[in-house]
Amino acid sequence: MELDNLYQELIIDHGTQPRNHYALQDPSMDAEGYNPLCGDKVHVYLKVNNNQIGDVSFTGQGCAISMASASIMCEYLKNKTIDQALEIFNKFQKLVTEENTSSIDLGKLSALAGVRKFPARVKCATLAWHTLQKALESGEKSE
Ligand code: ZN
Repeated sequence: MELDNLYQELIIDHGTQPRNHYALQDPSMDAEGYNPLCGDKVHVYLKVNNNQIGDVSFTGQGCAISMASASIMCEYLKNKTIDQALEIFNKFQKLVTEENTSSIDLGKLSALAGVRKFPARVKCATLAWHTLQKALESGEKSE
């Protein structure tokens, strides 16, 4: 991978020592995701109050990109509303798949932008996000 040094360090840091890597007790919503292309598995847990994400964590195993993405996602989404989270997911998807993304500012999440040069790794980077979306949707349905 030819990623920017700084970004590479961030991905290695989060990929080898993921933050929020545990199962939340009594989550309001959760979902499992699997990326068969790489073998990455994640389980995302959320605590939501009045449409706001109070806490978010994940378990699972996979490559450094998938773990780093899940780890940074959890940090980034705390205290965001569900609408904000879905909007960030949209932007993130653009960030890792499209060329002209200079207007997208997603802080640490931008570290993952380099995967767009490696189409096979895009699914690694978006796995946690797809799983998050699944959890949010299943949560909405069961209410
Ligand atoms: Zn992967």
